[in-house]
Amino acid sequence: MRIVILSRKGLYLSIMVLGLVLLGVSVRTMDWALPSIAKHPGTYYLVQTEEKVLALTFDDGPDPLFTGDVLDVLKEKNVKATFFVLGMNAQDNPELLKRISEEGHEIANHGYSHSYTPSKFVPELTRTDEVLNELLQKRTTYYRPPGGIISESVLAGVKEKGHTLTLWSIDSKDWQNPGPSRIIQNVVMNSFPGGIILLHDGGERREQTIRALGPIIDRLREQGYRFGTVSELRNFESVRPVQKSNPR
Ligand SMILES: [Zn+2]
Repeated sequence: MRIVILSRKGLYLSIMVLGLVLLGVSVRTMDWALPSIAKHPGTYYLVQTEEKVLALTFDDGPDPLFTGDVLDVLKEKNVKATFFVLGMNAQDNPELLKRISEEGHEIANHGYSHSYTPSKFVPELTRTDEVLNELLQKRTTYYRPPGGIISESVLAGVKEKGHTLTLWSIDSKDWQNPGPSRIIQNVVMNSFPGGIILLHDGGERREQTIRALGPIIDRLREQGYRFGTVSELRNFESVRPVQKSNPR
């Protein structure tokens, strides 16, 4: 009898542990289910403004196959963007990094190796800043964690290093490679004044992003939008809060 009770207790305990593990897994999964976390307080993911300005951001480069084409489109359209580069890729492609900078785009920090381990985020931020300082004699202000994964300790660590944790408010979902027309739609349908747009110039194949980029710029310009870097966007921050019909 005692053995049965014990094993029942054990069973309940096992169920409880399993439940907690599943809860933990689902919380983790939710963290990855973007862009809801982009709303996290203390991060920069939009500015409150009535001005029709947007910031285009590109993650995971510089990439020898794709960054050049992205830069060509931006040059043709006369748009300045922000590149959240990986230190590792900057080291491997210093000429491309210099080209990004020389063509007037903003360089920002996306860590070194795209590790998803939060305890590595701040050390990788520092390492990438050292690499960028060596290659460009520049230090970055804006840091975006891989996968947009954040926690209070990451937020505090990034702040302590003098960086602004920067996310996004308009997800192109180009990381799913859903086809250029879907990427265009994801951006154009969800844009609003003061938004930060997430795109990629590295990490995987980016032909779809490159094909979508020109039409994204054209369609948003037709709607009266202009583009700036994440630094420039901040200049449009309105003093009084703006009422949005579609808050995000
Ligand atoms: Zn990334």
